[in-house]
Amino acid sequence: MIVAIDGPSGAGKSSVAKVVARELGFSCLDTGAMYRAVAWLALHDGVALDDNEALGKLAHDCDIRFGHEDGEPVPKQVFVNDNDVTDAIRTAEIDKAVSPVSAAPAVREALVYQQQRIGNVGNYVVEGRDIGTVVFPNAEVKVFLTASAEERAHRRVRQNADRCIGSIDYEEVYADLLRRDEADTNRATSPLKKADDAVEIDSTGDHIETVIAKICDLAKEKQA
Ligand code: C5P
Repeated sequence: MIVAIDGPSGAGKSSVAKVVARELGFSCLDTGAMYRAVAWLALHDGVALDDNEALGKLAHDCDIRFGHEDGEPVPKQVFVNDNDVTDAIRTAEIDKAVSPVSAAPAVREALVYQQQRIGNVGNYVVEGRDIGTVVFPNAEVKVFLTASAEERAHRRVRQNADRCIGSIDYEEVYADLLRRDEADTNRATSPLKKADDAVEIDSTGDHIETVIAKICDLAKEKQA
């Protein structure tokens, strides 16, 4: 079974997806981390961020792996070509570079293929922007998770402070969120869009536990 969770940056997808996966006994796939890993590799290798063909080759040839602790369904680490990029993909520099990288059609083609290969062999909670629309259009559960831009920025600042990575300046984080919303929503290939059959959950003002319970209920209904 696939539980697809899409939505804009900072809507809480990662936090929610991890707990839902644990509660259901599913694995968890963070597709944003894959786009971030390719963006990291492009900067590392000096590949131009507007070179669709070169970026596509990079995405096609690279080896993205997730590191799990024993028996733990939620990965703790991200590796690309054996470089541990777990923290390096969460910087403000990658926040900026990931938009042009994820807009490159050749990158999307390579990563969607990898995501489908991973998700097709088990029960997964998959989070991203195009999971319910493109990657797994037949997902049994589709959720579109939103929250106000202000709340998303506050959450991202708290998350960055906890991780000691990225900006903790509210105005900077807010501006970057709006910029990424705009880029993700208006790109030509697989823009951020609610699938027609997705359940929209606006988490503004809601506790994360309420959102988790709603998604788990949807999955259990489908399992029954
Ligand atoms: O989810 P996260 O904020 O880590 O994603 C980083 C970026 O990767 C997004 O801003 C978006 O441009 C891109 N992305 C995407 N499609 C996905 C997941 C992420 O385009 N399925």
